[in-house]
Amino acid sequence: MKKHNFGAGPCILPQEVFTQAAAAVLDFNGLSILEVSHRHKDYEAVMQEARDLVKKALNVPEGYEVLYLQGGATLGFTIAALNMMRDTKKAGYMNTGTWASGAIKEAKKAGIDVNVFASSEDKNFNYIPKDYTVPTDVDYIHFTSNNTIYGTQFKSFPKTDLPLVCDMSSDIFSQEINVADFDLIYAGAQKNLGPAGATLYIVKNDVLGKSTSPFMPSYLDLKVHAEKDSMYNTPPVFAVYVAMLNLRNLIENGGVPAMQKRNEEKAALLYGEIDRNPLFQGTVAVEDRSLMNVNFLLTNDALKDAFDAAWKGAGIVGLNGHRSVGGYRASMYNALELDSVKVLVDVMNDFAQKNG
Ligand SMILES: *Cc1c(COP(=O)(O)O)cnc(C)c1O
Repeated sequence: MKKHNFGAGPCILPQEVFTQAAAAVLDFNGLSILEVSHRHKDYEAVMQEARDLVKKALNVPEGYEVLYLQGGATLGFTIAALNMMRDTKKAGYMNTGTWASGAIKEAKKAGIDVNVFASSEDKNFNYIPKDYTVPTDVDYIHFTSNNTIYGTQFKSFPKTDLPLVCDMSSDIFSQEINVADFDLIYAGAQKNLGPAGATLYIVKNDVLGKSTSPFMPSYLDLKVHAEKDSMYNTPPVFAVYVAMLNLRNLIENGGVPAMQKRNEEKAALLYGEIDRNPLFQGTVAVEDRSLMNVNFLLTNDALKDAFDAAWKGAGIVGLNGHRSVGGYRASMYNALELDSVKVLVDVMNDFAQKNG
C-alpha cells in the first residue's frame, strides 16, 4: 500500500512524476537519464525547459536568471552572502528558526557584519516577529519565508528598499509570490520542487558581478553560472530532470494559484481538527501558522505510544517532529493529497473518541 507521506523532506512528489522519472531512468531517447551527457542537446533542452517553467510558474519578470546548482540551501546561505555583499559589508537578518540561524552563521563566516534586527528565539521560534525596524545602513535584508522545523510562515514579507533575499526552500511554488520584490530567492529542491540534489536560484541580473567579497570561488559566483546557462559544470542532471517533470505537472494542474487553494484547504482541515480535538494542541501563534508544516502536541504525553501506533497503523509516515523540537509535524507539501490529510484527521478524531 502506498503510504501517506507527511515527511518534511525529501518529500512526496506527484505519483505521475515518479512514474515518468522511473521511465526515463530506463529510457531517455535511447539512453538512461542517468548516463546522458549534460552537454547532449536533449539534455540542454531539459535544463532550458526546467528554467523556463520556473519563470512560467512564478511569473518571473524580465531581468531575472533561473539557475539550478548543487549544495542545497545550506550552500545557498554562503552563496547569498558572497553575492550580495557590497560596500558596507553589513546585512540585516531575521532569525526565525534553525535555518535562519544557519544563514546568519554562514553570512558571518563569509565576512558579513550581521545585524539580527528581528528574532523569535525568546519563545523558541513559535511566532514571526512583527515589531521591528528594518535597517537601512546595510547591503541587503535576508529572511526565511517558511520555518520548516517550527511551523511558522511569513504572511507578509519585510518591507524595504534594499535588496531582499529569501530562503524559500520549504514554501516555494506553494503560494503566489511577487518575484519582483526580491533580488535573490533560493530554495533546496527537495521540499516542493523535486528530489534532493538541485538547488534553485532566482536572481535579478542587476545583482550579478557586483560583489565586494575578496573571496569568490567560481562555483559560488552566480554570475559564472548565469553566463553558462546553469551549465558551468555538471549540473544535478537527474534532479533537474525530475524538477522539470514536476513543474510540467504543476502547470498542467492549474499552476501555483491552484496549489495555493489546495494547500489552504489541507491546512484548514488539519488546523481545524487540532483546535477542535481536546487531545491535541498547536504549538505556534495562530496568525503565523505555516500551510506547509503543521506542528502539534498531544495534551497528554502518556498517550504517545497509543497515538503513534494509531497513525502508523493508518499507513502514515513522517509525522514525528524534528529532533530539536519533538511532538508532531505534518508536512503538507504541494503533492500531498487532501485525502491523506483526511486520513490523519480521521485518526485523530477516532483517537479522541477512544481516549477522550
Ligand atoms: C531544508 C531547509 C534548508 C536546508 O536545505 P539543504 O538542501 O538540506 O541544505 C534550508 N532552509 C530551509 C527553509 C529548509 O527547509
